[in-house]
Amino acid sequence: MKLLFSRSLMALAVVSAAFGSSLSQAEEKVLNLYSARHYQTDEALYEGFTKQTGITIKRKQTGITIKRIEGKEDELLERIRNEGAYSPADVLLTVDAARLSAAHELGLFAEVKSPTLEARIPANLRTVDWFSFSTRARVMVYAKGVVKPEEVQSYDDLANPRLKGKVCSRSGSHPYNLSLMASIIAHQGEAKAEQWAKGVVANFARAPKGGDTDQIRAVAAGECAVAVANTYYLARLMRSDKPEDRQTIDKIGVVWPDQKSYGAHINVSGGGVLKHAPHKEAALKFLEYLASDQAQRYFADGNNEWPVVAGIKIDNPALTALGKFKADPLPVGSLAMYRAKAQIIFDQVGYR
Ligand code: FE
Repeated sequence: MKLLFSRSLMALAVVSAAFGSSLSQAEEKVLNLYSARHYQTDEALYEGFTKQTGITIKRKQTGITIKRIEGKEDELLERIRNEGAYSPADVLLTVDAARLSAAHELGLFAEVKSPTLEARIPANLRTVDWFSFSTRARVMVYAKGVVKPEEVQSYDDLANPRLKGKVCSRSGSHPYNLSLMASIIAHQGEAKAEQWAKGVVANFARAPKGGDTDQIRAVAAGECAVAVANTYYLARLMRSDKPEDRQTIDKIGVVWPDQKSYGAHINVSGGGVLKHAPHKEAALKFLEYLASDQAQRYFADGNNEWPVVAGIKIDNPALTALGKFKADPLPVGSLAMYRAKAQIIFDQVGYR
């Protein structure tokens, strides 16, 4: 009890220092946002909201270097949990479906009823208390001339012995890979998923390291010949003027996986209103703004993600060049169900 009390006091002190007096904020037109989206260009997105509503967004951006979701939660989730009822946070925005589900399981989100969000966001991309605002696909990247596109039509191919010594990967504990593995468990069951993970590890060209962009570069540099990467990293390289990025793009090919079966695994960026949000009305307004045409276009044009709202006209040459694809319709909420199992299997087979 004593510990709890001092912890809360400490949280309050930290919070007040971070946001000014948190107690008088209820009357102000502000919104306190905890964001783990690591994209500098998001500034324009927040400015659009302030222009529309007159509500100023105070932002706390941490949680960029995240290690492992279960056991130790995200920095931001941990922070919101520690702050408890004193948390000034109104909205949590983050990436990865399993991470958003973790926030749900911790009871951090408030249930939200919004006809606008229900009408605009497809049912498989929202839950009762958190919503996806953009999607990204995890695609196959291969070295042209080394691997044929026919050899990498499915995530299953990553485990095929003919790709021995040719696969690069970021860490198995990274949320993007855990969510991909969760989708494989959901579709194929644990036993097959474990076989798959073993096969992928047996095909590694090197121990997992770096981020998605590092895997793409490693494929182009000939360190390996196949990797998976999120589409916005690819699009970023495709839109880059740097000669080295142009060379990277010239050397690689991209395949939408599993187009003949369940479709390419997609992950999301999303968020929700927090249970102890001091400005619930502003928070809901903000979520509805994120689903507006303007904000949806921003996700596409500014950060190379796909809008969740249908029929948004986008202006992004890289997304246009990537073209249309079949996305796995698995509900985002269910990825979380297999997340812990995914980590256990990865640990067992040495996918570190
Ligand atoms: Fe990312």
